[in-house]
Amino acid sequence: MPLPRGLPVVDHHCHLSPRGESVRAVERFRAAGGTHLFLATQNYEATFPLSLDTYARQFETTVRLAEKVHDEVGVRVYPVVAPYPIDLVGASARLGATAALELHRNALDLAGRYVREKKAVAIGEVGRPHFEVRPEVAAIVEQAFRHALEVARDVDCPVVVHSVDLTAAGFLELAERAREVGLRPGRVIKHYTRTPVAPESRGAVVPSYLARRDLVREVSASPGPWFLETDFLDDPNRPGVVLDLATVPRRAAAVLAQDAEHGAERLYVPFVESVERVYGWRPEVDSEGSAI
Ligand SMILES: [Zn+2]
Repeated sequence: MPLPRGLPVVDHHCHLSPRGESVRAVERFRAAGGTHLFLATQNYEATFPLSLDTYARQFETTVRLAEKVHDEVGVRVYPVVAPYPIDLVGASARLGATAALELHRNALDLAGRYVREKKAVAIGEVGRPHFEVRPEVAAIVEQAFRHALEVARDVDCPVVVHSVDLTAAGFLELAERAREVGLRPGRVIKHYTRTPVAPESRGAVVPSYLARRDLVREVSASPGPWFLETDFLDDPNRPGVVLDLATVPRRAAAVLAQDAEHGAERLYVPFVESVERVYGWRPEVDSEGSAI
């Protein structure tokens, strides 16, 4: 079943690398019916950043990739930038905890400037490593996370959180962290969510669900806001460890095929309504089905 013409089809979290498939992967996304991508930055170099210049170079690469994809494929790309929380693990071993935290805070401030200058739409990924870290690292992780929430509050944008998979208690804890600094919990997105959490149990924090077939089936009728994502990594050395970039449009087509009557309405929730509620604007497509 073809996707409805006026419907944007949005992958809310992916990565692209100049050394990976890059534009070719987005061509596959476009061919499957995809129109808009949220592109999270990543470390494009051999080691984690140890200077603010390296972060600046990294964010610039993400923004340039977004423009290149739009120019060459016509897919609209929204950059999301921040220092990766796991950078603190390596940086603290090399620079010491204090200097690593200082660098991280400066990189978060830089990410905030990108949002203010409209070169990025959100701060992310921020949060906590998905594995156990030494207590002194755990302490700076918390301080860095708090600063990330403050930056989002100050520039008035969403934050995209990296962490272990969360239950309702974890969602409520995130909401609490946001409220502590005066950030609206509805601006907090838990990326790579694999466990559906009922809307009344997540304290307004927004899940971005991994677009696995079973999960999409489980959440597709639930009220928003929520998103779908692949977390595509664009790493030619690790094929198949994550979902392919064509997955979200394919799942959208499956939702429509399953429920011709309500499918489009359901897809409107993650692709339009949720973007509007969390980010404040809506992705749009023209009469040809291309991103505007
Ligand atoms: Zn990611």
